[in-house]
Amino acid sequence: MTTHADPARGYPIHALMNITQRPASVFVRGEGSWLWDHTGKRYLDFVQGWAVNCLGHSPPVVADALANQARRLITPSPAYYNDKCLELAKVLTRLSGLDQVFFANSGAEANEGAIKLARKFGARHRGGAYQIITFDGAFHGRTLATMSASGKKAFEALFEPKVPGFVKATLNDLASVQRLITSQTVAIMLEPIQGEAGVLPASDQFVRELRSLTRARELLLIVDEIQTGVGRTGRFLHCEHAGIAPDILTLGKGLAGGVPLAALIASKQASCFEHGDQGGTFNGNALMCAAGLAVVDCVSKPEFLSSVSEKGRLLADRLTALSRRRDLGAVRGRGLLLALDLKRPIGAELVAATFAAGLLLNAPRSDTLRFMPSLTVTPTEIDAMIDRLDAALGNFRG
Ligand code: PLP
Repeated sequence: MTTHADPARGYPIHALMNITQRPASVFVRGEGSWLWDHTGKRYLDFVQGWAVNCLGHSPPVVADALANQARRLITPSPAYYNDKCLELAKVLTRLSGLDQVFFANSGAEANEGAIKLARKFGARHRGGAYQIITFDGAFHGRTLATMSASGKKAFEALFEPKVPGFVKATLNDLASVQRLITSQTVAIMLEPIQGEAGVLPASDQFVRELRSLTRARELLLIVDEIQTGVGRTGRFLHCEHAGIAPDILTLGKGLAGGVPLAALIASKQASCFEHGDQGGTFNGNALMCAAGLAVVDCVSKPEFLSSVSEKGRLLADRLTALSRRRDLGAVRGRGLLLALDLKRPIGAELVAATFAAGLLLNAPRSDTLRFMPSLTVTPTEIDAMIDRLDAALGNFRG
């Protein structure tokens, strides 16, 4: 990405490991849908920490929950109960229809836990079965096991040898899943809208078929809702669109509105960890769980969820109109997780151009833009985003 701001303000950017190419702006403040960099330049943010800031930047409800809780109790250690962790676990079991929660600090850690739980279940109840069927294109995280579970092409050659035990089926193709089931299969793991792959949705019918298949073959269904959960698609969980409940569910990203919190949630039958199998120093700390409680209380309200659907429809309509005007492709996704097919491999250059014009967008693929604004984004901000994107496309020579 080209650099658009003066990087020479004394920021020690070389003190960070160089894990990705970043623009030279340094962000110093955020509020709602807006970010400010070190030069005072303002940006409209439709990335929101990759769908993390579900209530926008620095929402008062999260700031207050953190400030109040920080003065009361940060963490007593995961070896003891704390009130916020217990309260949030109860809320998440109610909202998911599942029974028990393990809190983690990132989506990858929650998914790593889901993989371990499925293997434990296989060892205890399925004669040592350990294989998990996942999907081409899926993204489950960046630990070694979750990279191995992912079906991302760019991961294939990295960090060999991978963790064994994952086989890949094709999204929305039940026969491809059936063909992979053996006596060693213990679970099927699904990302219901493949976000990193370019916002490719599993159909509700396919999700229901997977639920029936896993029931019939006594397999666990693991659903990774790290990107789709916590209201992103207009329901608290994406699974609700298909009317199913998985055996194991993972949540992360928006769960605590921008601070690190994720959850591994399981049915009573699947929740089979024994002492010593799972843990972690920061897991379920009271500070993050207090933020999680504040966010979930807000996002799970029916009127909040219908506003997400409404704004999702508005954003989809505006993108569709833009696409017609500029001869682009289809709009995909659900709620406020949408993608626009650019029909040409101009994603990275377009993202750099909109960045220069004060708009943050993400291109998960060279021919696709992804939109994941705050769930509190306003219609005016949606229109402002479309105007800036339209202007960038108008100036674009790529
Ligand atoms: N699963 C899905 C579907 C994701 O979108 C992501 C992150 O983008 C992850 C897992 C990994 O989450 P984290 O980056 O918090 O480890």
